[in-house]
Amino acid sequence: MATPAATRVTSLYVHVPFCAQKCAYCAFYSEASSGELINRYTAALIREMEIVADDLKPRTIFFGGGTPSLLNLRQWEQILRAMEKLNLPGAEEFTVECNPATISADKAKLFRDFGVNRISMGVQSLDEKLLDRLGRIHSREMVFKSFDILRSSGFENINLDLMFAIPTQTMEIWRATLNEAMAMQSEHLSSYEVIYEDDTPLFEQLKAGEFSVDENLACEMYEELISSSTRNGFQQYEIANFAKDQEFKIQNSKFKIPSRACKHNVNYWRGGDFYGLGPSATGYVRGVRAKNWSNTQLYYEQLEKGRRAIESSEELPPLRRAGEIAAFGLRMNAGWPFAEFQRATNFDLRNEWSSEMDQLARRGWAARDDEKFRLTHQGLRFADSAAELFLR
Ligand code: SF4
Repeated sequence: MATPAATRVTSLYVHVPFCAQKCAYCAFYSEASSGELINRYTAALIREMEIVADDLKPRTIFFGGGTPSLLNLRQWEQILRAMEKLNLPGAEEFTVECNPATISADKAKLFRDFGVNRISMGVQSLDEKLLDRLGRIHSREMVFKSFDILRSSGFENINLDLMFAIPTQTMEIWRATLNEAMAMQSEHLSSYEVIYEDDTPLFEQLKAGEFSVDENLACEMYEELISSSTRNGFQQYEIANFAKDQEFKIQNSKFKIPSRACKHNVNYWRGGDFYGLGPSATGYVRGVRAKNWSNTQLYYEQLEKGRRAIESSEELPPLRRAGEIAAFGLRMNAGWPFAEFQRATNFDLRNEWSSEMDQLARRGWAARDDEKFRLTHQGLRFADSAAELFLR
């Protein structure tokens, strides 16, 4: 029986686990693609959508990866038509992550026709040598060309993903990339420092002493990112996320974020429920966290038998989940208005984490008043350490 519309889950993440080749820094679950594998994935994903559709009324949809734009037109059309049949479109925000090498006018038009209204483009750098070093399959020219295709296809909400502190990247190169990215006038910018994950080529090179990490330079690059994006009309609303436009209020909330903020991610950071479909995806629905197999073969086999490919699921004790939500939410510049946190978790931050909040305020990492608690500029730099204090 279908869940009553008012209580259905309003956020859907779909993982597309294929990439043309593996980037040097990447530890995400993804694998090299072939036409037949992706056809099998497409059929399995549609089956998984059919299983959960009655419990979904998406306000936000996000296809991430992997490289979702690697799917060809026919595969995309099958997925989007199936979603239409299942009554899943109509989302306020529908994002597809794209690699600049795999965007075409036909694909962009198909996306628009089926309600996709936001594209997140994995640019990473606009320096040809660094793109090579990262193992990216696209060139800087492809970034500009794909951006133009997206704009002429009617996309008015585009995110650019950039990376900084890449080995051999100087401040001059970073500034040049930032300047060119700002000139593109996207509505959103995400930017992360390179991290060295075990079992990646970049980590092996670091271990072998091929380069060293310059933390001071990384800090300066982060500061440059903040000042350049602010000068160019972006507002930082999360550690690594910047968006344009006037502020708007989230329903029932006192905190404000820019209107072009990624609503899908804001739902994560605010502790909202979401379904996660596709190999390795995690979802969180009504107190239960479920994770799919990080193995496409197992994923296909389970779905071909008509059941979801869930590897593990656990019901989180409410206080533990509240701690996680506190930690996630502190990544946002707005921090946590106490009333908002209570609405999301049924716990009062001031009762459960008072000493932790005081400890962070004493260190200069956080600020607290009668209404809210938030990390300061300095605290945001150390958000991961600050967040650990809230985990139970
Ligand atoms: S395209 Fe993205 S998911 Fe694929 S290997 Fe590169 S960074 Fe990882």
